[in-house]
Amino acid sequence: MDSCIFCKIVNGEIPSKKIYENDYVYSLLDISPQSKGHVLVIPKKHSRDIYEIDDDILCEVMKAVKKLSVNIKEKLNPEGLNIVQNSGEIAGQSVFHFHIHIIPRYKREQEYDIDEVAEELRIKEL
Ligand code: 5GP
Ligand code: ZN
Repeated sequence: MDSCIFCKIVNGEIPSKKIYENDYVYSLLDISPQSKGHVLVIPKKHSRDIYEIDDDILCEVMKAVKKLSVNIKEKLNPEGLNIVQNSGEIAGQSVFHFHIHIIPRYKREQEYDIDEVAEELRIKEL
């Protein structure tokens, strides 16, 4: 979709701190992170929300969410994490291209460098 910011990120028209990519899914650091390692997981194919996304694509997104959650646990060692999906403006959705937030939670929040976090979390295989 031409006007969609996440479609532009997937297509490389807008820069992002990419963590992981496969045929179906793109994952990047959130630009306004709620914690160290706050990651977004988005399908490459545009759909607006939970109602619109194809089941097969949703399964691919969730497989990537699991892979990235394990990766975050191994590398950043949070005490827990939240997996959040907002559908609809009233539910807090601000970008209308389906995405899932992975938000690591720490007993003690730490100072961090965003580029170092991106480098640490990056999964290089395709
Ligand atoms: P929502 O509120 O729709 O669930 O989440 C949208 C998320 O996308 C927000 O956490 C926001 O910080 C993030 N976001 C918005 N624009 C950009 C962008 O251009 N790049 C990145 N990396 N994240 C973005
Ligand atoms: Zn889009």
